[in-house]
Amino acid sequence: MHRFRARTVIVTGAARGIGHGIALRFLAEEANVVMCDTSVQALADAQEGLKTHSDRLLAVQADVSQDTDIEQLLQRTRQRFGPVSILVNNAGISPKHDGVKATVAAMDVEEWQRVLDINLTGAFRCTKACLPDMLSARWGRIVNIASQAGRTRSDIAGAHYAASKAGMTALARTVAAEAGAAGITVNSVAPGRIDTPMAQAAGAAVNAEYLKRIPVGRLGTVEDIAAAVAFLASEEAGFITGVTLDVNGGTFMV
Ligand code: NAP
Repeated sequence: MHRFRARTVIVTGAARGIGHGIALRFLAEEANVVMCDTSVQALADAQEGLKTHSDRLLAVQADVSQDTDIEQLLQRTRQRFGPVSILVNNAGISPKHDGVKATVAAMDVEEWQRVLDINLTGAFRCTKACLPDMLSARWGRIVNIASQAGRTRSDIAGAHYAASKAGMTALARTVAAEAGAAGITVNSVAPGRIDTPMAQAAGAAVNAEYLKRIPVGRLGTVEDIAAAVAFLASEEAGFITGVTLDVNGGTFMV
């Protein structure tokens, strides 16, 4: 398929895990892809693995919690490929202490603020930075990678993470309402347990226990999430906006 030929996509947190899977999916569908992440080395490794697509791939070191990094990300994207047409707000953190979340009673305010600044305000910063290109083109797609933890309760993720992910879905709905008339859709994907370094940080025993609660009988893959994101970013999903798509093997249903 080549649904995204000549489209330029920014994927945040794309050096590994779900973001990497999403970047790969857009590359396979012929988009120009900008992978952003915090670690220069991790980006270089990811780029090395994707060098058959190097004519359509740009890796930019950028921390979504830093305004100047986002400015540079957009500047470099436009220099290389022109205006941005699709943004995937994927970068996120879920702090653990010896593999376990901090309860609200034990959580310090710095940890709370850091999670909100990266997961939620990072998505706001990137959305705000990309909207002018989409508004000018009168076409755009924004997909926020939220979480099941923001849709129901979580024993694994902390309150800061759950609140940030619920916030990302509210941000998506608000921008969907504001920008819909300009041909821009804004949606969220809420993954359940997906086998990535973030999920592995909780430990094998936690994930084995979790597996028992998944009706389809397996953990999710980055490809499961990438397929959902690609659908929401496609032309044919133009009448879908403001929704949260649960991709969780049936663990949580509404
Ligand atoms: P991951 O394996 O930890 O990968 C996340 C990537 O984001 C890393 O490369 C990380 O780089 C990067 N990142 C972190 N902070 C960043 C920042 N400030 N600016 C730019 N990049 C940053 O996590 P994942 O499992 O792929 O998760 C991806 C997204 O899906 C996250 O938003 C997560 O909340 C969400 N999600 C995951 C699951 C799951 O089960 N895996 C479930 C629900 C939702 P460094 O760490 O090197 O900085």
